[in-house]
Amino acid sequence: MSESSKGEFSRRQILTTAGLGAVSAVASGGMGESVTAQQPSQPVTPRGGTLPPQIEFPPISEKTEVDTGGPPTALPPERRLGFAIVGLGRLALEEIMPAFAECKLAKPTALVSGDAAKAKQVAQQYGIKPQNVYNYQNYDNLRNNPDVDVIYIILPNSMHAEYTVRGAKAGKHILCEKPMANTVEECQEMIDACKQANRKLMIAYRCQYEPHHRAMIQTIRNKELGTVKLIQADNGQHQGGDLNQWRLKRALAGGGSLPDVGIYCLNATRYLTGEEPITISAQTFSTPGDPRFKEVEESVTFQMRFPSGVLAICSTSYGFHEARRFRVFGSDAWGQLDPAFSYSGLRMMISRKSPTNSMAENASEVRMSEKNQFALEIDHMADCVIQNKQPHTPGEEGLQDQKLMALIYQAAQTGKTITLPRVSGLDVTRGPAPRTLK
Ligand code: NDP
Repeated sequence: MSESSKGEFSRRQILTTAGLGAVSAVASGGMGESVTAQQPSQPVTPRGGTLPPQIEFPPISEKTEVDTGGPPTALPPERRLGFAIVGLGRLALEEIMPAFAECKLAKPTALVSGDAAKAKQVAQQYGIKPQNVYNYQNYDNLRNNPDVDVIYIILPNSMHAEYTVRGAKAGKHILCEKPMANTVEECQEMIDACKQANRKLMIAYRCQYEPHHRAMIQTIRNKELGTVKLIQADNGQHQGGDLNQWRLKRALAGGGSLPDVGIYCLNATRYLTGEEPITISAQTFSTPGDPRFKEVEESVTFQMRFPSGVLAICSTSYGFHEARRFRVFGSDAWGQLDPAFSYSGLRMMISRKSPTNSMAENASEVRMSEKNQFALEIDHMADCVIQNKQPHTPGEEGLQDQKLMALIYQAAQTGKTITLPRVSGLDVTRGPAPRTLK
């Protein structure tokens, strides 16, 4: 069979099987695992289902070359899950709405905003029906809207709990931004409300869906760095501008740099090791007289020890120029992501003794194609709803960070090292690892 006739056959076959909607598509996982996207046994929404088969091209290079992965495939628009976006701020408009263009299972179908004119403009830009634009008062009417399966909460931190509880009561699944809330009690309320309504709750820890982070988790778990001894993580930015911004108000933000950006360091030490800390000590500092830090802290450093003996040293600040990185020190090698917590441009390095020259150190970059972290995270939520699976970062993951952040503040205030009960097992607050959709 000639190449062209082979191609013609494949295409016809694809069109036929896609029409029947009964074929499994094989999707290769980011870490080399292979998953089959099968018809879910109990779909929880009328939408969703099987991804169409991937369109295949004949090989173009030898096996020595890196696999391009092939063209992406996606659910047809009418079968993608509908998301209502709540709060049209920077993250929503600069990252999330554009990310839907790269989603395979999800689409934006409703908006919730306190600014009707802005919402109208955004609705027009993204083809959202005018009747699907809500405000904070009539938000609960989402219950009557069949276009919406999932509510994505992108509001100031203090509003996460209320809008999660109301959203779950309206019968919708909830994807909520980090930090999950301002207090441990609020986190528990959110978990309880979603359980009671039999709806899924996922916290939007985008890094846990991002290929460089997943590769580093696998590198550590495969012992490719030897025994991990220490993790150093820093995430800070020079926060400024409008002194009235919600991030500088304790009631709205819950804290300063720690819940906003320091949480990335805390969360990374937990997902890299899979463990929960057994000791915590910390310090905070705010420049005296700086009007930005009247209510919230400027900088925090915290140290933790994990059951396996791994030590973590973390820093976060609203006062230093953007730095977003971590390094994992193992007995045989070190691995780092720098930047680690940015939206794009992540770089992974591994350094170990050269296998060919005992006098030399080999530091090399592990390169992989960049993916939109937000699209991966949104699709994971949709996938969990379609497949009736627990999200990889459920409410329990957000609750654990909230508990630990409260202890970090307590350790800083008292100057004492806090000891926690040992948690056995790995990844105890996480659902199954996310699969990669082609
Ligand atoms: P913004 O201030 O840019 O946007 C928040 C939006 O919430 C506002 O535009 C407004 O939308 C709505 N809002 C409702 N009530 C208030 C209020 N009282 N004060 C201020 N805004 C209000 O914040 P971000 O988009 O940067 O952050 C939103 C959430 O997303 C936070 O929880 C933050 O931690 C998280 N985040 C996560 C990131 C990540 O990488 N995962 C990155 C950045 C933020 P409207 O005008 O439509 O009503």
